[in-house]
Amino acid sequence: MTILGCIADDFTGATDLAGLLARSGVRVSLRIGVPKGPPSDTAPFEIIALKSRTAPKSEAVAETTAALDWLRRAGAQRFFWKYCSTFDSTAEGNIGPVAEALMAELGTDQTMYCPAFPENGRSIFMGNLFVGRLPLAESPMKDHPLTPMRDSNLMRLLEPQVTRPVGLVDRLCVARGPDAVKAELSALNAKGVAHVVIDAVANDDLAIIAKACRDMPLMTGGSAVAMPLPMLYVADGTLSADAPKARAPELANGTVVLSGSSSAMTNAQVADYIARGAPAFRLDPLTLATDGAQPAIDWLTAQDLSRAPLLYATDDPANVRTVQEKLGTAAAGALVERVLSDCAVAARDAGARRFIVAGGETSGAVTQALGVTQLDIGAEIAPGVPWTYCQSDGHQIALTLKSGNFGAETFFSDAQEAL
Ligand code: ADP
Repeated sequence: MTILGCIADDFTGATDLAGLLARSGVRVSLRIGVPKGPPSDTAPFEIIALKSRTAPKSEAVAETTAALDWLRRAGAQRFFWKYCSTFDSTAEGNIGPVAEALMAELGTDQTMYCPAFPENGRSIFMGNLFVGRLPLAESPMKDHPLTPMRDSNLMRLLEPQVTRPVGLVDRLCVARGPDAVKAELSALNAKGVAHVVIDAVANDDLAIIAKACRDMPLMTGGSAVAMPLPMLYVADGTLSADAPKARAPELANGTVVLSGSSSAMTNAQVADYIARGAPAFRLDPLTLATDGAQPAIDWLTAQDLSRAPLLYATDDPANVRTVQEKLGTAAAGALVERVLSDCAVAARDAGARRFIVAGGETSGAVTQALGVTQLDIGAEIAPGVPWTYCQSDGHQIALTLKSGNFGAETFFSDAQEAL
């Protein structure tokens, strides 16, 4: 029986949430998109990954309510709406509109918002979101191509996205503990405040907030505020102590590393891995445009997969810009994603059973190419980046999917050690 039904607005966000919930040892299952059939083989924690962050509002709402419906059929009575810890959204949404749609479906008149993720440097004070020491609007998120964040104040960001009043439970209240937070939420509810931002600067704050909000039909936030929930459910018997545990299947050791992210951290991870002597093949989009995937596949199939070869399109920002000017940004991205997907399939067919993938969009493309629709969450490699276990073409495989800036410099070798 599913205890908590979660819906995430993008795929790597879903794996991030899954990894934190799985720290409890309880089985967590992640579905890519709303499953077509009725719920089966369900876990105590079910997460549905959507691709709704920048989708048109009506589409995001329709997909999210379909996900809610599936999770209710799986038995869930409490729900978590997961968005980015940098509150990635536009003035139209989709965080607020989706939350209001979920509230209407669940018949609840209040929810909370806590995108804080202290371990990853996201904190909220007096309703203002910080990235490390910088206010959100001064962080690199101010220049995000799709959701530039030009205000740091979560109440101001939320107000244009919703129809009902927005309020704040501040850090001073959180410091007084769960009962104080509950009392403040009730007081705000009495005043008609439907959307409550809650401050958090450390994991201890998140524990207090989770305790105060755990009975809400709908909680919303980044992944971190959900992290204490499994233990709270075990403590009060909502989740039995013998609830299904995470699985760790047997796997052959053929491994491939596929990197399609050009973030600063992924550049450092590729450099570190090559410096360790890993076999590596650079995918140059200009060459791919003329020669296609075959040279990369030929190289890959000649490799010893026990040495975990790397194929990477990762490059520094100036080179990426040059390629984008020549090929077009979308076309260059799609080309690299297609070639890395073809390489993933070729690696599987050559016996690889462990896949390390860097890049959010890249991860989506590779999982789709491998035909993966459900992932069981395993060991955590870095905060928010777990190994996952799934089936591809009848084979048991392990897959880790890392969005651009996650993981340490040694991520690619860390991942292999963690399995
Ligand atoms: P991140 O998680 O860092 O944002 P993504 O995989 O989501 O990584 O996005 C990176 C995008 O850039 C993908 O569409 C990928 O195909 C594309 N890309 C990767 N390398 C290059 C390159 N060298 N030149 C142009 N585009 C690239």
